[in-house]
Amino acid sequence: MFESIMLRDNIHEIIKGYCSKNPFKNGCTAVLSTILPIKVFRSLDKHQIDSLSEIYTSTADSFIEHFANDKVRVIISKTVKLKGILILFINQNALIVKNTAVSYENSKPESRLIDIDIYCGGQQITRTHLNLPPRQCIICEAPASRCIFEGNHRLDDLKKEFQSYLVKN
Ligand SMILES: [Zn+2]
Repeated sequence: MFESIMLRDNIHEIIKGYCSKNPFKNGCTAVLSTILPIKVFRSLDKHQIDSLSEIYTSTADSFIEHFANDKVRVIISKTVKLKGILILFINQNALIVKNTAVSYENSKPESRLIDIDIYCGGQQITRTHLNLPPRQCIICEAPASRCIFEGNHRLDDLKKEFQSYLVKN
């Protein structure tokens, strides 16, 4: 069921719907997901899925643990096998959480496969809010969001690049 939600293009509207239910008045909503396009995700073999699952789960676990003292509420948790998504309400300032999210995204080469999006009152907090450059594309030096929007890379090249992060584990 959740996979069909992921495939719809109004995922941001759905996430905003969850944001409005956040019980922490000064908190924020965190959404962990894998950045793999659905076509690349479906091309992975069992070993690669296991490897991605391990990266996703360990990132999610340590991210939750990081904010345990601030109060964290897990809203939705899906394993990577269902094109994983984890939605958390965190009782902490959105900029502080975003800063931690960026450090997780940069912590290891394979962390490149994980996206941690932070929302505050329905508004997405970006790296620009922290005066940081946007996340770089996995293949070229342009911002990742531009290459995704413009469809700048061939599916085969994306597959090869994403899979290179999964064979090492
Ligand atoms: Zn690119």
